[in-house]
Amino acid sequence: MSIENFEVKAYPEMWESLGMDVARFDKSRQMLGEVFSKTYLSQKNRPAKMKYFDGLIAEIFGGRIKEMLEVKKTGKPIVGTFCVYIPEEVVVAAGGVCVGLCGGSQGSIPDAEKILPRNICPMVKSAYGFKAGRICPYFQVVDFVYGETTCDAKKKTWEILDRLVPTHVMEIPQMKKKRDKQLWLEEVKDFKTRVEEVCNKTITPEDLGDAIKIINNKRKALQRLTRLRANHPAPISGKDGLLIEQIAFYDEPVRFAEKVNELCDELEQRLQNESGVVEKSAPRIMVSGTPMALPNWKVHNLIETAGAVVVNEESCIGSRYFKDLIDESKVDVDAQLDVLTDRYMQIDCSCFTPNDDRVDQVLKEYKDSNAQGILHYSLQFCHTYNIEEIKIREACEKYEIPYLSIESDYSPEDVGQLQTRIEAFLEQIREQ
Ligand code: SF4
Ligand code: SF4
Repeated sequence: MSIENFEVKAYPEMWESLGMDVARFDKSRQMLGEVFSKTYLSQKNRPAKMKYFDGLIAEIFGGRIKEMLEVKKTGKPIVGTFCVYIPEEVVVAAGGVCVGLCGGSQGSIPDAEKILPRNICPMVKSAYGFKAGRICPYFQVVDFVYGETTCDAKKKTWEILDRLVPTHVMEIPQMKKKRDKQLWLEEVKDFKTRVEEVCNKTITPEDLGDAIKIINNKRKALQRLTRLRANHPAPISGKDGLLIEQIAFYDEPVRFAEKVNELCDELEQRLQNESGVVEKSAPRIMVSGTPMALPNWKVHNLIETAGAVVVNEESCIGSRYFKDLIDESKVDVDAQLDVLTDRYMQIDCSCFTPNDDRVDQVLKEYKDSNAQGILHYSLQFCHTYNIEEIKIREACEKYEIPYLSIESDYSPEDVGQLQTRIEAFLEQIREQ
């Protein structure tokens, strides 16, 4: 696939049948193809196995949607989610598909701002706008969406979104005491019941056990990729690393894990040949903070265009999604749900208080990834990450870790200003 001939494929008849605004969506499709081509296919020295992931982007509004429609025809559930706290293992156990619907695009925000306040997180507005404008085939395919109560912007938006698509809400505790786990376990059980109702099937221990293994394998493949990125020089760009982490929320999990492992085999080979994707002298940056949903590549693109390489994402579209696994030894559904809940309770989102585990995790990942500086990324109006940034900054000061904090949204307006700040930050690292 070359820069000249890459395109995100069009499926106007299928989109029409899904009730989409086809004319408008087709423009977004073309734009995504152009941006992807410019941002990704222009990279030098990319691993050959990235071809699969490029192909997935080419088919993101077509081939993958067709696969989901095939699953749906068999009566299995298609569930949309917005947060890594929703246990996808339960959906996979029912033979269904779990798809992340977080919005990472500026294009759908005007649709959202017709009804939602402007001063809320762009991720929430972008996601809502995709449904309101009928410009996301994934939103059109899902049987229902499952929101959560992680932050105020989300939990109140679900009430409005429910007018457009059946929207259920999982209560996520805000603390991690014993009684909080109990509350959340009950919520996980309700989720399972909801999924079972859609497919008219009771999930067995075998179903859930197999699903736990499938998703563990996906997470293990991503862990392997992260370990490889820690090598010096990095064998793969941060942009490609982020792309794979984003695709993890769309792709069929067994195939995805296989393809990530094939890529990792190639990266191991590269390391043996000491062939990095950048010069050894390129500054190594770890990005920490709020998730970057597809196609939000803004910050990685700025960092790497300035000659550095991103080596880790401490984020939900990043390590927070795959750092923990579920114990596979349990053989009855109650015990399985119990260990599943334990695993999910380890996710250190800033919506919890206190959340000092995240500070320790950031420091650990900084060390493990052999980074030379941390860029903290917070989406505009995300109060919990913005405030928690204070503790991350203090920890970086304490350990003398070069640090830059930025707050941004999806608009291109601040690109010039961010570029200047990022270049100055990289200069500081180069001078050390
Ligand atoms: S940052 Fe928090 S609310 Fe957002 S996806 Fe992650 S866990 Fe969920
Ligand atoms: S980034 Fe922050 S404000 Fe936005 S959805 Fe996630 S937790 Fe909520």
